[in-house]
Amino acid sequence: PVSRPDPDCVFCGIVAGDIPSDQVFADDRVVAFRDLAPKAPVHVLVVPREHSRDVRELAGNPVLLAHVVQVAGLVARDQADGDFRLVFNTGARAGQTVMHAHAHVLAGADQNESDT
Ligand code: 5GP
Ligand code: ZN
Repeated sequence: PVSRPDPDCVFCGIVAGDIPSDQVFADDRVVAFRDLAPKAPVHVLVVPREHSRDVRELAGNPVLLAHVVQVAGLVARDQADGDFRLVFNTGARAGQTVMHAHAHVLAGADQNESDT
């Protein structure tokens, strides 16, 4: 099951084009744009256009989840050296602040040294 779009959801606003973003990739299923507060030399969010609450709900659509992972790889190849960390903060107690499923792609220098 997929949550109904929330009119107050910031990522639905970005997907709709109502909120500006610095997009690095887009297709019919996802958009990828730079995080406002980057925590790595390359910090891009891959966001399914379809609203779901978090990666647990997104996993109900395995094809779409796999596409998010594939796009993360494309972004890391295009924006960095190809290697990357993929983070899904899942639930408020794990630090998720935007309740629209998204993958953080963290890439660039020293990602292999990071412990976050
Ligand atoms: P999480 O929910 O996984 O903890 O993180 C949400 C991420 O979205 C944060 O890293 C935050 O900086 C980013 N973010 C929140 N609002 C916006 C926005 O309006 N535009 C962009 N580009 N990033 C945002
Ligand atoms: Zn949303």
